[in-house]
This record gives sequence, structure tokens and C-alpha cells, in this order.
Amino acid sequence: MNTIIERYNKIKLNIASVKPLQQVNIIAVSKTFPLEYINPLIDNGQTHFGENKVQEAVVKWTEVKKKNENIKLHMLGKLQTNKVRDAVRLFDYIHSLDNQKLADTLAKHQINQKKKLKYFIQVNIANETQKSGIPVNDLDPFYNYCKNEINLNIIGLMVIPPNDNNPKRYFKSLNELNKSLALQDLSMGMSSDYMEAVEYGATFLRIGSSIFGKRS
Ligand SMILES: *Cc1c(COP(=O)(O)O)cnc(C)c1O
Repeated sequence: MNTIIERYNKIKLNIASVKPLQQVNIIAVSKTFPLEYINPLIDNGQTHFGENKVQEAVVKWTEVKKKNENIKLHMLGKLQTNKVRDAVRLFDYIHSLDNQKLADTLAKHQINQKKKLKYFIQVNIANETQKSGIPVNDLDPFYNYCKNEINLNIIGLMVIPPNDNNPKRYFKSLNELNKSLALQDLSMGMSSDYMEAVEYGATFLRIGSSIFGKRS
């Protein structure tokens, strides 16, 4: 477990070498890892955690969140509409908002539960087939719909760039799109490319294996 804290501190040092740490939030992506791995980070003051499956997150986090009101949970994975009620109950942020049916369902459950989450719109930046995310050409109308018609609190854009070893150009495009919508936050950068993401203005980094180790 010490190695988890060591790796986490190293990541913070790397980021701090280029930017004040207050400007960048690390989301520790704890999917597949049990609480024994997570608790040392909570004890170390880490507050943002990411998961990608609603069921796993409910089992793992419901009690922990009751005891630690500072913890903020981020839903990073594809969200099915039949899981939205549980997701709205548990999570504070959703990073995978990318279609109108999902947006409408989230809006409905927010009202039912009298709760307001924060949202990132996931963008399919390179228009890859089979990739989640809203196509760049549909982003403006989708953003306006979410914000003005159904009152979702959209705080920024999120991207998982194509696997072509050139994340910078995608981070740059996402940053420009974010500015064009006057949004404050940017969810980008994972274990392999978080320093590049910081360089292009990421405010939320989603880091899993570089903190917790390889997932089985
Ligand atoms: C798993 C996951 C991450 C973390 O990936 P690592 O490479 O382990 O840092 C980030 N974002 C999303 C959407 C994920 O599903």
C-alpha cells in the first residue's frame, strides 16, 4: 500500500513542476480496486475518485461516502439509462454525457431526487466509429439543449483521445472547443498522457493505473 502513496505523491510532484496543484484536480480512478487500496489515499486527503460501473461503485462507495462528506465521486464510463437513478443518487460528477436520451433521463432523476450533479460532455474528437462521445459537429446544439432546455450544469468537456500516440493535438482541439463554449473545466489526461493534458489546460485528470497499479 505504501507504493500507492509513493506513486500518488510522485504524480503530484510531476504536476507541481509545471502548474500550481490548486489548478489541477487528480481523480484517482479506482475501478476494479477494493477499498484496502483506496483507504490510504482517503487518509492522505485525496477527495476525487473515479469509477466506470454504477453497480461496482454503489457497492464500494455508498457507506464510505456517508462517512466522508468531502469525497466526490466521478462516473467515467458509459452510462445506461436504466442505471441513471442509482448514478444520480451516488455520483457528484458525470463525465460520459453524450446523447439526448441520457441527458433527458439524468434531468428527470435529478428533479426526482432534488439533486444537482456536475457534467462533462464527452466529445468524440476524431469522429472515430464505435467510440463514445458526441460528434464535434453536434456539440453546439447538444450543449445548448442540455444547458437551456433541461438545466444540466455542464462544467466542461471530456475526451478519451484516439490511441495514436499523439494526444496533444486532441487536447489542444478540446481546449479550443471548451473556450468556444466559455466552459471552465476540462476532463482529459490519463496515466499515459496526463502531463500533456496539464500542458493543454486540463483541470481534471483521470489517473488509474499509475496510482493503483495494473488492473487485472
Ligand atoms: C479507466 C479510465 C481511466 C484511467 O485510466 P488509466 O490509464 O488507468 O489511468 C481514465 N478515464 C476513463 C474514462 C477510464 O475508463
